[in-house]
Amino acid sequence: GLPLNVDRLRQDFPLLSQTVHGKPLVYLDNAATTQKPRSVIECEARYYAEMNANVHRGVHTLSQRATDAFEAARDTVQRFVNAARREEIVFVRGTTEAINLVAASYGQRFRPGDEILITEMEHHSNIVPWQLLCERSGAVLRVAPIDDTGALRVDAFERLLGPATRLVAVTQLSNALGTINSLPELIALAHAAGAVVLVDGAQAVAHLPVDVQALDCDFYAFSGHKLYGPTGIGVLYGKAALLDAMPPYQGGGDMIREVTFAKTSYNDLPYKFEAGTPHIAGAIALAAAIDYVAGVGLPAIAAHEQALLAYATEQAAGVAGLRLIGTARDKASILSFTVDGVHPHDVGTILDSEGVAVRTGHHCAMPVMARFGVPATVRASFALYNTVDEVDALLRAVHRAQEVFG
Ligand code: PMP
Repeated sequence: GLPLNVDRLRQDFPLLSQTVHGKPLVYLDNAATTQKPRSVIECEARYYAEMNANVHRGVHTLSQRATDAFEAARDTVQRFVNAARREEIVFVRGTTEAINLVAASYGQRFRPGDEILITEMEHHSNIVPWQLLCERSGAVLRVAPIDDTGALRVDAFERLLGPATRLVAVTQLSNALGTINSLPELIALAHAAGAVVLVDGAQAVAHLPVDVQALDCDFYAFSGHKLYGPTGIGVLYGKAALLDAMPPYQGGGDMIREVTFAKTSYNDLPYKFEAGTPHIAGAIALAAAIDYVAGVGLPAIAAHEQALLAYATEQAAGVAGLRLIGTARDKASILSFTVDGVHPHDVGTILDSEGVAVRTGHHCAMPVMARFGVPATVRASFALYNTVDEVDALLRAVHRAQEVFG
């Protein structure tokens, strides 16, 4: 049996009881975004119904209530990633903004010839901000390759580190392949070379327990919407000493201490990096999502998803013409594949007609597609509410696509 009572948990997710084209919805696009439990949806509605006011600005009761809830959400995030201090938690729009913040702000110290090391499996959000920084600063982007299973070549990664490496940016869990990177090893190597490390945790947070102090990463970025929370809210964790020494990212309200036309001084952490009215409802609902995940238990969620992935991998191996993309030993929650003779978008269309929602395309990881010589893949990705029956429905629908186009 599986470690979670999924029948009961599914009732927490109103959207999952829908039908699509007359078939029960099988939602396997969780790496793109997860569905939301009722507690998160109600939390956001309750915020607007009962405490909506701007934060950090008013002495009136509502503003105080909103501020307290917003700052309590920061405490919840701090505990969730085990940050040492609450000021190390900066609310942003999502992973993409968190990475751009670091590239724009920390990146101001980069000089021609400085090196930034990423990997071949990164999402475009963890490639393009560094390319832009290289254009601005004259820094050079280096890319550590992956092997035929989609695992990082740690030997090559190590060789690419050197005295010029200023920053390493690496994903904890690949959204295109499902590969889990061995962060403790990579971070130790990077630190030994004198580089700071940014971890892209967008995919990881919903599947693996995260402890930023144990990892000793310098920055950690994630999005609420892949963690059963709202869109438009995310988190940048940064070590206080680093954040403190960094210039502001955006200017505006909330991030200042004093403004005159001659000179402006900046607010303390984390507010220095939170210009403008934040996504207050989103932050509070993200905390509700974290509470939900903690209530179910990340270790149990991880075990459940590993069982689904193992079953799906085994079943997929029995389908003639199905090629798995991403077969690393350490994987989580993602099954990426192609079907001989059928374009991934056609597979996706047939799957949709059977009620099965998957992602087809390059998954914002075009270099991964290039590495495996495919234009796109079909990606099924699991969450805590998925079932073995849904994996069977996926494979039946793939079979149907082979019949239609074969
Ligand atoms: N990195 C990875 C590994 C991702 O999977 C994603 C989302 N697909 C992102 C970064 C970007 O996240 P967001 O679009 O929420 O900013």
